[in-house]
Amino acid sequence: MRIARFSIDGNVAFGAVEGDGTIESGGLVLDIIKGIPYADFELSGVKVPLDKVRLLPPVLPSKVVAIGRNYAEHAAELGHSIVDDQGRPEIPVTFFKPSTSVIGPGDPIAYPSFSSELHHEAELAVVIGRMCREVPPSRVKDVVLGYTAANDVTARDVQKREKQWARAKGFDTSCPLGPWVETDLDPADLTIQCTVNGEQRQLGRTSDMVRSVAELVAHVSEAMTLLPGDVILTGTPAGVGPLNVGDEVAVTIEGIGTLTNKVIKRG
Ligand code: MG
Repeated sequence: MRIARFSIDGNVAFGAVEGDGTIESGGLVLDIIKGIPYADFELSGVKVPLDKVRLLPPVLPSKVVAIGRNYAEHAAELGHSIVDDQGRPEIPVTFFKPSTSVIGPGDPIAYPSFSSELHHEAELAVVIGRMCREVPPSRVKDVVLGYTAANDVTARDVQKREKQWARAKGFDTSCPLGPWVETDLDPADLTIQCTVNGEQRQLGRTSDMVRSVAELVAHVSEAMTLLPGDVILTGTPAGVGPLNVGDEVAVTIEGIGTLTNKVIKRG
């Protein structure tokens, strides 16, 4: 099931996306969900055309926990090895993107005033469905609601200049999520693509992750309690590159859909 969050006439609701179209082509309908999708829920049978609503970020996470250097080719393009100096697999890099960085499909990415090198990073996002901690890899599927597309928008110059990445990767609008959460999906081997103004920039497969979704959720939950709606970003494949004001950036993940955002000057 594809679960979208949306607003219509000032009301916010979740809905199951039905139909074979896309956001661009139309033909999609939302069956409004009674309640919230983190517990047992029912479809109301009340349907609205998707092009009559405003799609919102599909979840409101208490935290977004992101993983760095989880695709070897991308780590190499930034000059990092994924093994340590003794040849062991490097411990995953983890960092936070704050809840205030999250925007939805179609929302603008505001180019930060303190950067002159903004980059896209297309990523598979894991959406947590229930409160959990210390989840072993074998039980991760029980705590995952589903998957959506993400863009870990990064001020690369700031990231290089500052030891912590809080500003470089946590500024307002730096975490587009969407367009919805797909609950019936095996994340093991999906195409992940990023285009800018229709031109392909990144193309990878989730099977190239250094660590799997199950390993990443286990690793993060070893340290902290995860709440319903929390999001884990799983790293980006090779091909990251610049975004400029006026660009339209689109992240497409097989089995999920396309997350599109335009870059604007920060007002
Ligand atoms: Mg990233």
